[in-house]
Amino acid sequence: MPIRSCNCDNVCEICLGEALELARIYIDTLKGDLGLKNIHLVYSGRGYHIRVLDQFIMEEEAELRGEVLKYVVGAGVPTKERRDIPLGYTNLFNNNLVRNICHITGKEKIEGINPKLLKDIIKNRNQIEKDKNGNYQLGIFRSKIGPRRYENLLDAMARINLSMADGKVTIDLKRILRLPSSLHSKVSMRCVEVKNSNTFDPFKHAIPKFVQERI
Ligand SMILES: [Zn+2]
Repeated sequence: MPIRSCNCDNVCEICLGEALELARIYIDTLKGDLGLKNIHLVYSGRGYHIRVLDQFIMEEEAELRGEVLKYVVGAGVPTKERRDIPLGYTNLFNNNLVRNICHITGKEKIEGINPKLLKDIIKNRNQIEKDKNGNYQLGIFRSKIGPRRYENLLDAMARINLSMADGKVTIDLKRILRLPSSLHSKVSMRCVEVKNSNTFDPFKHAIPKFVQERI
């Protein structure tokens, strides 16, 4: 993931935890906003796959799959008129925006965000507050950053949001997904279906027996 709190080169508990958190947010959107029901979460061995098996979406072509992906991850900046309406997609985008802003460590190289802006984002992120309805108030943060640079930030975050998920797997109808119970050879972890995302821990539930015995 291009924005994550850890600094590892492969996968670690921190980024896997953040990937799971993101997967849960995506599942909430698939269910709540898009009305999909037959959703399975699978730990792939080094990340998470969300498998949607609702019949009508299974029959859809790549184009609609791409639209669903873009909506769920927040890959488009809401229009100026919609930004003032704290509902639906605007809320989804703002939540993702604030989530990214809070996870930035300062070491990232993000296209469209220069080091000075990155610094100012971190310096001013404590200005973001929630109102009584639980919606983020971005006005003070926006004025501290400046309107032009704020637009740059929104554009950059929309691009980052898309790269937080593996888009190719989503839209490519010919991809073969890793089968639960198979082994991911790079990390020696098993692919398993996550039955309860509240208690799932890949370091407990996806380490194969022969590796555990070695430890
Ligand atoms: Zn990590």
